[in-house]
Amino acid sequence: MGSAAAIIIGAGHAGLAVSRCLSDRSIDHLILERGEVANSWKTERWDSLRLLTPNWQSRLPGFGYQGNDPDGFRTMAETISFIEDYANLISAPVQTHTTVQDVSFADPGYKVKTDQGTWLCQTLVIASGACNKASVPSFAKYLPPSVQSLSSMQYRNPEQLEQGGVLVVGASATGTQIAHEVHQSGRPVVMAVGEHVRVPRVYRDRDIKWWMDAAGVLDERYDEVDNIVRARSVPSLQLIGSRERMTLDLNALRKIGVRFAGRLAGINGGKVQFSGAFKNICALADLKMGRLLDLIDEWALASGTNDEVPPPYRFAPTEVEDSPTLIMDLSEKNIRTVIWATGYLPDYSWLNVPVFGRKGRIRHDGGVVEAKGMYLMGLPFLRKRKSSLIDGAHDDATDLCDHLSAYLDEPSGNSSSEGVLCK
Ligand SMILES: Cc1cc2nc3c(=O)[nH]c(=O)nc-3n(C[C@H](O)[C@H](O)[C@H](O)COP(=O)(O)OP(=O)(O)OC[C@H]3O[C@@H](n4cnc5c(N)ncnc54)[C@H](O)[C@@H]3O)c2cc1C
Repeated sequence: MGSAAAIIIGAGHAGLAVSRCLSDRSIDHLILERGEVANSWKTERWDSLRLLTPNWQSRLPGFGYQGNDPDGFRTMAETISFIEDYANLISAPVQTHTTVQDVSFADPGYKVKTDQGTWLCQTLVIASGACNKASVPSFAKYLPPSVQSLSSMQYRNPEQLEQGGVLVVGASATGTQIAHEVHQSGRPVVMAVGEHVRVPRVYRDRDIKWWMDAAGVLDERYDEVDNIVRARSVPSLQLIGSRERMTLDLNALRKIGVRFAGRLAGINGGKVQFSGAFKNICALADLKMGRLLDLIDEWALASGTNDEVPPPYRFAPTEVEDSPTLIMDLSEKNIRTVIWATGYLPDYSWLNVPVFGRKGRIRHDGGVVEAKGMYLMGLPFLRKRKSSLIDGAHDDATDLCDHLSAYLDEPSGNSSSEGVLCK
């Protein structure tokens, strides 16, 4: 049985950032990875995906963008290389093809069982990803068998799809990007639109991510927001990373011929039902975009940036039909495929420690889990608004490794599993 002061589960960018910070503190550790470095990007994304964050905005501890296109958007191959290069640069101690199957309390620390053996560790960092499973509504099973049903994790490219119409469920980054690509392949697309976050790609000549970074929006802390539970469930921004720096909101998709309905509410006898709140949902997204742009404008004035960029302007409201579709017969509309772009969930089925709260979420305070010596990385708004982005790993890993290091230094803190749950 092997042992280490710290075990990190997952060799994505988050686990690697922690590894670098532990090495800086001379803390002996090991990363257990079920696949290879950057496994999620290698095996779980669609072919044409590019990061929606600009190249400059992937800053890991001791590593950043070194090319000559800082404002471009990485392809999957480039993203994988970036993460692999980082693992090599920091000489990350990764044990690949090792799947963690069970984690339980040991005395002291944790026992980590894998398909390649068992390890003991005083501290555990869970960096196994926030997007291990597609979150698909339970009523998806009522789709007629003649209709192909794919989650966004199963989708790779339009060639996979039947000829005919496609219903894309969900209008956040994943849904809008897939709807755009499928439409370009010549298949008619209908989108079921729930809550979404509308933003322009470029505002006042600067990328929206530049504004959000500069104005401090992405640095907002988890203990500064009014409702962190709500903040952690806000959908991803409606953005795409493209050479043209296109804005991919509902108006842009409507312009090329995509059609819309409200949130998908149910399926019955080959018919799908949509919520009637489509108009309100779009109005809310417009309102929130306006608030973000107001905040940016205020910051531009206060920071002196105002004089360097064009004056403020606003975007046309989202176009909505007066009577949006409420029921659609799939065969009548020749919908042959449904793609569920309804979000992602982490998978902690291997974690056998009583740290779960409502909806199977791990109870934690900014990544410090209630079980002593256990930490989380890479989840939405873990410690800052940017926590789930590659760019968020630096700050979170630094803070959590400080905590982990102090915990290891405690004279009795790591010596017994008794009373290991801290409130
Ligand atoms: C479609 C999509 C697009 C995104 N686009 C962007 C973007 O443009 N910019 C950006 O900054 N972020 C983006 N993100 C968010 C984020 O950067 C990714 O989700 C990223 O993969 C998360 O990194 P991570 O290291 O936390 O998790 P992952 O990269 O998922 O790494 C977790 C690792 O843990 C391993 N693992 C899981 N379970 C086990 C186990 N039981 N045993 C051993 N190993 C295990 C996995 O194989 C994986 O390698 C995107 C996310 C998605 C889903």
